[in-house]
Amino acid sequence: MGKIEVMSENLANKIAAGEVVERCMNVVKELVENSIDAKSSEIKINLVDSGVKEITVIDDGIGMDREDAVLAFSRHATSKIKSLEDLFYVDSLGFRGEALPSIAAVSLVELKTCNGSVGTTVIIDGGEIKETKSSDLKKGTRITVKNLFYNTPVRLKYLRNLYTELANICEYVNKMALSFPSIRFILTNNGKVLLNTDGSGNLLKVIGNVYGMDITKKMIPIECSNDDYEINGYISYPECARSSKSNINILVNGRVIKNTEINRIILDAYYMHIPDGKIPIVVLNINVDPILIDVNVHPTKMDIKFSKMDTLKELLLSSIKDKLDTTNLMPSVGTYYKVDEETVIDNNNYSFETLSLDDKEEINDNENMIETDKENNISVNNSINDIKEEYHHSIENEDDNRIKKMYPIGAIDATYIVAQNEDGMYLIDQHAADERINYEYYLERLSNHDNKTIDLLVPIKIEMTNKEFIILKEHFDLLLDMGFVIEEFGINTIVIRSHPYWLPANKAEDCIKKIIDIIISSEDFDSKKFIDRVAAGVACKASVRAHEVISISDMESLLEKLRYTKNPFNCAHGRPTIISYSNYELAKMFKRIKD
Ligand code: ZN
Ligand code: ZN
Repeated sequence: MGKIEVMSENLANKIAAGEVVERCMNVVKELVENSIDAKSSEIKINLVDSGVKEITVIDDGIGMDREDAVLAFSRHATSKIKSLEDLFYVDSLGFRGEALPSIAAVSLVELKTCNGSVGTTVIIDGGEIKETKSSDLKKGTRITVKNLFYNTPVRLKYLRNLYTELANICEYVNKMALSFPSIRFILTNNGKVLLNTDGSGNLLKVIGNVYGMDITKKMIPIECSNDDYEINGYISYPECARSSKSNINILVNGRVIKNTEINRIILDAYYMHIPDGKIPIVVLNINVDPILIDVNVHPTKMDIKFSKMDTLKELLLSSIKDKLDTTNLMPSVGTYYKVDEETVIDNNNYSFETLSLDDKEEINDNENMIETDKENNISVNNSINDIKEEYHHSIENEDDNRIKKMYPIGAIDATYIVAQNEDGMYLIDQHAADERINYEYYLERLSNHDNKTIDLLVPIKIEMTNKEFIILKEHFDLLLDMGFVIEEFGINTIVIRSHPYWLPANKAEDCIKKIIDIIISSEDFDSKKFIDRVAAGVACKASVRAHEVISISDMESLLEKLRYTKNPFNCAHGRPTIISYSNYELAKMFKRIKD
């Protein structure tokens, strides 16, 4: 028999490296999680060429003594975690040290660390310790990983796209910064700062650092709980929705996780508020007894299952919907505040009356402008905390209808109504606004099974393809339920003899065709979503169109009705109905005040 080859530890590490370390992001993740476990309050990540050339992670944590520093690079030197569920119990990210030998096997590593008394430097090349000496480092740990995969050229090939490597690292570090607002994160690539949080523990500030300060004004705080779950965090205005799924940040007991079901619930809550395919910005921390979760850890992601998903779903869905239904979501043209971490110009504190530019002399120079700001209490120094306070405040003081009365002046391109009131100017998309009004009306009729019908003098005949006809026939009951009286009429043709009274008489045929179209293209008919789609479809057909000239008094009644809708800010497809230009923003645009 042949002899048994014992794999060298170094070779084993190289093989393992292929599993644990695939991308630069995995190295960053490993080093950053070690730094977090070391109770650091500041973690700096410096990359050269997206990390392919060099990754340095510097922390101010507890550091290691010499023995640990050397041991850190042997396989399974430290493994504190017995089961995956432990991750959510113990005060550790759990993999401390697991991947260090793998990283060291495929790169050149320099480790400097100090536990407060002894400073140590360890240099490892391709997994072999080359040197151990004293270090002048006074506190924390500094690890530099150079030339990743230099000795495994096949792997190196996968790293060629610097943009992808960097994008992955950014996404990871952003999520960590959002998970640990009390830790300061600084990320640089080739000296350029990509993220710089302040470690003050203010989550809204971190959201501002990650997504831009403008966003912080458009984040709605959420706090809710039931017997099993406690949720807190922020959700964005629908207008902030973007294309990437990575905008949904879910933490469970402070750990970043991925869960497609939760993503779906959040999108459901935003249904009708944002266009299809758009993703809101969400940062939510879910606190739960670890007994209720089942963890499946992957080197690159953390996927968990909740054993009481239904109560979590109910809680999430109702709290997000509730917030979206009770918050003033009107998009505004201006930026509300400076793009500056500390200073914020707050639009809400501004009142045109107190400024009363018309009564004063024109303000010509900058000095005067600043004076005016002060005199009139435009707060330029509101901290993010204050904004948070105001949010609660403004939500509490919400009227039943959330828009003040607006007075139409005319319409641009027979599409956008121009209106004004004491707060400023508004542009209203006449089709989107009318569609919103009609959508809510039809939704109510449909949900209440309001089936009074109107008999048609001339029945409406609708022809379709054989396939469409077969699908429709299968769902005739849906049309009967709504109050239609239909008959088959020859080949692949139906005749409508009566329709529900609430369909607009002059657009009945268009509306019916739309309903049929929705039925034919639908996959599920049980859910509320089907009714929603029908209401939205009919509303679109029944509403005043773009480029359709309407009178000022029609505009007046349109704007009045819009004020009394449940959600005046979006059409049924998630497009905005109204954009505001506050007096403050107008004054800024005309340089009457300094921005
Ligand atoms: Zn429409
Ligand atoms: Zn629409």
